Amino acid sequence: MTNIPPVDLARQYKLISTPVETAVLDILSSGRYIGGTVVTDFEQQFADYIKVRECVSCNSGTDALYLALRALNIGKGDEVITSPFTFIATAEAVNLVGATPIFVDIDPDTFNIDVDQIESAITPKTKAIIPVHLFGQPVNMTQVMEIAQKYNLFVIEDCAQATGAEWDGKKVGSIGHIGAFSFFPTKNLGACGDGGAVTTHDSTLAAKIKMLKEHGSRVRYCHEDIGVNSRLDAIQAAILQIKLSYLDRWNEQREEIAKCYQTLLSPLPYLQLPQALSGGKHVWNQYTIRLPDQQQDTQLYRDLVREKLQKMGIISMIYYPLPLHLQPVYQNLGYQKGQFPVSETVCNQVLSLPMFPDLTFEEQQQVAYGLKDCL
Ligand SMILES: *Cc1c(COP(=O)(O)O)cnc(C)c1O
Repeated sequence: MTNIPPVDLARQYKLISTPVETAVLDILSSGRYIGGTVVTDFEQQFADYIKVRECVSCNSGTDALYLALRALNIGKGDEVITSPFTFIATAEAVNLVGATPIFVDIDPDTFNIDVDQIESAITPKTKAIIPVHLFGQPVNMTQVMEIAQKYNLFVIEDCAQATGAEWDGKKVGSIGHIGAFSFFPTKNLGACGDGGAVTTHDSTLAAKIKMLKEHGSRVRYCHEDIGVNSRLDAIQAAILQIKLSYLDRWNEQREEIAKCYQTLLSPLPYLQLPQALSGGKHVWNQYTIRLPDQQQDTQLYRDLVREKLQKMGIISMIYYPLPLHLQPVYQNLGYQKGQFPVSETVCNQVLSLPMFPDLTFEEQQQVAYGLKDCL
């Protein structure tokens, strides 16, 4: 029996290898590897898909967040509210511009920031909120935008795990002031390398982001600001153009798999299944279950189950094992253990099951029955 991996990008590649290889070879023989119409065409297509006026591509999702913060003039002395249960890049970008991340605990049912707790974290220094649409589940953006309006704050959506997700009929990345996307290979829309994009309705902001990502210049060799080098290269843009046309289909396949897991796993004890919030469209970058600790062992129940699954050839992942406020790098922020109880508990309970569009029905059954045996 072969292993069931958490994600298998080679399978997806097989489906699209012909157009991808043609497009890549075209670029290789063109001699034009940076910029060009392939990049601007992709930006236009992605803007149309998200339904925003502007899309500026860049080198990664981390850069997208960084550029968004820079464009909003967020820096030293400013505070930015976000979730402690996310990938480090969300908060790291805040530090990179010189501002301070302020964490707010999460909702145990969605793993997303607990919107009801945001207001109590706002201070006169607060400049922005970064809601993270974690695992593909959209944050309640209606509530986030209401709070932002009330306190005059910017909203940067971290859409890295949620390309194609929707809240209230709108694509994430089109609701806040700026959307930040990652095209890391395992994201819903992934390149064959690094990539990212910023989306916005605001053309002035888009022009500023474009300036910042090109060494602070609008006119070549005239530098008005300290910028960075953050480009989406032509080969990645060509691949992303092809993959974008499959994205809705792939997201539907993810949803089918989530439904299948839900059906097969719902009668099982000792585990909590993820739920898609009504009002949104979840795109299932991860299918993350919770295994509450049974206190029978020194080892976490989740870790025990994970090991057993691994012995059966089912590879699961832990996103994330440690909340950001307890990371060594953030000890200077002065947070205490116990301060964000939901995030801390969830870090000891989460297990992400294999989830990618090409996971076969037999594999889904194998995962479900394997998990059943473990419990
Ligand atoms: C992947 C990810 C990022 C960073 O994207 P990169 O392209 O890897 O830099 C940021 N935030 C979240 C929530 C992510 O999952």
